[in-house]
Amino acid sequence: MSPPSQLACPTCQRPIEWSEEFPWRPFCSERCKLVDLGAWLTEKHAIPGEPLDESAASPDPATTPKRD
Ligand SMILES: [Zn+2]
Repeated sequence: MSPPSQLACPTCQRPIEWSEEFPWRPFCSERCKLVDLGAWLTEKHAIPGEPLDESAASPDPATTPKRD
């Protein structure tokens, strides 16, 4: 099976093509990829019961989406 030639960006649903034109596929852009990653990390951190190590708490740039 070959990948679909056309699909939608998981983040913004923008239609993209499975080609070198979209190096960040299945995302339409690096921004959308980072947004998706950030959302995933946020959800993970929000899991109830997860032990919080406050002594290790520090700002993590990866979890802070950049907004230009
Ligand atoms: Zn997108």
